[in-house]
Amino acid sequence: MKRIAVLGSTGSIGTSCLEVLDGLRDQMVLVGVSAHTRWQDLAAQTLDFEPRWAVLSDAGLADSVSTSAFASGTKLVYGADELSKLASHDDVDVVVAAIVGAAGLQSTVAAVEAGKTVAIANKETLVVAGPQVVELARKTGAKLLPVDSEHSAVFQAMQSGSKREVKRIVLTSSGGPFRGATREQLEAVTPDTALRHPTWEMGPKITIDSATLMNKALEVIEAKWLFDLEPEQIEVVVHPQSVVHSFVEFVDGSCIAQLSPPDMKLPIQYALTWPERMECPGPKMDWSSVWSLDFHPPDRDLFPALELGFEVARNGGTCGAVLNAANEVAVDRFLQGQLKFVDIPRVCRAVLDAHHFDPSPSLSELVRLDVWAREETTRWKSSRST
Ligand code: NAD
Ligand code: MG
Repeated sequence: MKRIAVLGSTGSIGTSCLEVLDGLRDQMVLVGVSAHTRWQDLAAQTLDFEPRWAVLSDAGLADSVSTSAFASGTKLVYGADELSKLASHDDVDVVVAAIVGAAGLQSTVAAVEAGKTVAIANKETLVVAGPQVVELARKTGAKLLPVDSEHSAVFQAMQSGSKREVKRIVLTSSGGPFRGATREQLEAVTPDTALRHPTWEMGPKITIDSATLMNKALEVIEAKWLFDLEPEQIEVVVHPQSVVHSFVEFVDGSCIAQLSPPDMKLPIQYALTWPERMECPGPKMDWSSVWSLDFHPPDRDLFPALELGFEVARNGGTCGAVLNAANEVAVDRFLQGQLKFVDIPRVCRAVLDAHHFDPSPSLSELVRLDVWAREETTRWKSSRST
């Protein structure tokens, strides 16, 4: 039995992951779960799966939690440090990194340090510290398996050839809810409209990232580190149906794609069962209906966040940590009504430009810069906002 710990088990990826694990009970056992604040959801998961550990990472909640709501065989522990202990525990084989944001960095690094197989949904870890994490995995023998649908598609398509035969990869993007919008329409975007994604149901942060195309920017950086590519080998194409999850183009011109309905259960399961494939609870393609697949280039002027991703992928060093932290705070401020939608890439640009670049920072330097970039973004006021 593979022993699985799901960090961020109450989120969108986390709950899909538990659905997948429900179908794999004969070969995998869920040994650990975690939530930040939603302890009732966490408690319900322990009743269903009876894992050995449940981590509530917001230690401040300890007094308000009703411990009797948890399975009696589950040990409930509090605080962010417990996430790293769980991620590196000897009795865990696979860690699903499904926490949102740089909050997932420490526990993901702990899993990699301990040589675990890491199913990585938490793309921010690779944006903040891609080279450090990849180098650490090389040393410890940890395996990094993509969960992000585009990267899972690339990972699957890569198996059609060898690494040196890869010419480039093409990441698909739905274009988000504002595909085809005018500049005036983008100026007026509210959190409500931005939270309505046309094809994917996801947590609020990645939903806003999908609307600004910052999600694709982060995915360009994620792909660079996961697949050891030059930024020039990564392209982005808008594909509104979200059925083709990405392509790999080989040197002979052959493009291999992976198709499935837009649902995360398949890429999550593939990371858990790889190199095998198994029956999956996700939806399947309906080939009996008439449908079409469209592709067109992204509008880089209207969605400047995308270019930031390529720039950060080219420059490396401290840029990823700064871009990620600025974006996390900017998204938060937008959701609270303090920034306009179009301010999100503007503040990221400004904070990136203001930071002291270091081409080869240590992990602790990146953590310090993350704090700095958050403060800068919190203070930032748009000269163009009304
Ligand atoms: P979500 O907001 O739905 O869930 C986040 C999870 O992280 C929850 O379990 C929450 O309790 C936990 N969490 C939040 N803040 C935390 C903190 N400070 N410390 C510890 N735990 C914390 O997010 P999501 O949509 O499931 O996304 C999770 C990750 O997966 C993100 O990195 C996202 O980019 C990536 N991802 C998500 C999807 C998707 O379809 N949702 C697709 C691809 C990649
Ligand atoms: Mg994705």
